[in-house]
Amino acid sequence: MEYSRTGPERHRLGGDGIPGAVGGSVVSAARSAGVASVGAPLPAATAAVRLFTNYSATIGTTGKTAIRVFPGGSPSQRRYKLQEAAVKLVPHERVARCFRYLRAGESQVEVLHAACEGRAFYGKLEVCGSVWLCPVCSARVAEARRKELDEGVRACEAGGGSVLHLTLTVQHSRQDDLALLLYRFARAWDGLNTHRAFKDKKASGKRRATVGIMGRYGIMGFVRAQEVTHGQNGWHPHYHLLLFLSRPLTAPQLASLEAELRVLWASSAAKEKLSMNDHGLTLRRGAGAAAGYVAKWGLGAELAKSHVKTGRPGSVTPWDLLRASAGGDVRSGFLWREYAAAFKGKRQLFWSHNMRALLGLEEEVSDAAAAAALPRAAVHLGWITLADWFLVLRHGKRGYLLDLAGGGDWDVCREFLAGLRADRRSERLRLGLDAPPELVIPPLTQLHFLAMVSQRFA
Ligand SMILES: [Zn+2]
Repeated sequence: MEYSRTGPERHRLGGDGIPGAVGGSVVSAARSAGVASVGAPLPAATAAVRLFTNYSATIGTTGKTAIRVFPGGSPSQRRYKLQEAAVKLVPHERVARCFRYLRAGESQVEVLHAACEGRAFYGKLEVCGSVWLCPVCSARVAEARRKELDEGVRACEAGGGSVLHLTLTVQHSRQDDLALLLYRFARAWDGLNTHRAFKDKKASGKRRATVGIMGRYGIMGFVRAQEVTHGQNGWHPHYHLLLFLSRPLTAPQLASLEAELRVLWASSAAKEKLSMNDHGLTLRRGAGAAAGYVAKWGLGAELAKSHVKTGRPGSVTPWDLLRASAGGDVRSGFLWREYAAAFKGKRQLFWSHNMRALLGLEEEVSDAAAAAALPRAAVHLGWITLADWFLVLRHGKRGYLLDLAGGGDWDVCREFLAGLRADRRSERLRLGLDAPPELVIPPLTQLHFLAMVSQRFA
């Protein structure tokens, strides 16, 4: 790694050709840990390098700078990288514009900072809101949904009710077409959900004898999530449901509820030419917060630890496929495209009628709104010009820049952007091309720079 002594605190392209991959952290680490200032000789900086590669927690701070460093890239860096892989596979979908293109009428990219979370966010950019195709939006939507589910479960239990976790699936084979499988699966679910033996909540008039499962077991409603994995036997779609009950069930009641649901699910699936085995339906008591379920539902949680395989042994999630595709696996890329075409536009979470109101939850926001929402505490940190933004995109540094901005010190980001500009300029000059004009440093910054240099050599 090499540091420039000629520019204002700039990073140079490292040996791997990626500016700031580690170098940025080191410079910032030097600042934050008070190790050395800009242009520090290498031995002084290596301590910081070691510090930063060994720890993933926030490292010592001076002033505003506090940067978290994760070995192998932070979750946000990995999400943006994964999004780039998705764009390569489906370049005509909205995900290709997501957190890249400026919204109509905007001329600069805004960076906002939420001090309480120690995170930064981009503003003024288009947001696709696709929970299926976009790793960035998926994670943001999942975060919002997780909070809601958690609130819902707590409200139900606080009111004396209980929550059950129901999983539905069907047998499938390698020959199954995913879109057709999903269509049949959805119809089978509709068959169960609208069946009188399931949905009737109250006994009334002549229908006294036909009180459905919901009425007899006190099921007030449910929230349903759909998910798919891919394994040896092809696509494996499944529904997860949280059933909200008005009262707790005893163990025998739970067993009989499972048996009744199993019969109903088997008959609904059979009508759609689908079959189920012993694993076709499972019913478990809710244990702990909904966040635990949601982690299993693939609502973005697996992205937080995307360096590990997240599907069950022998099966992979769509994000695993996308990662493999990014690594050059053509088959995974083909499968991911099939998945993208089948899931595009589908709802990930569905609340049954009136359930949210019963649990005291606010009106549901759309996926796009949830993905675009910013924390209330987020305040303006700085602006990125369009020219700089193109450099950030070209080098795939959106996630990295956000991590830098997470420290709340805009100067650090400005230095990083100046480094990108300088590298671009020297690369063009090396190739005999015209370089963009030198950045004119405003007088105040010059003073600041001189002060820093004199401090450095004092
Ligand atoms: Zn998106």
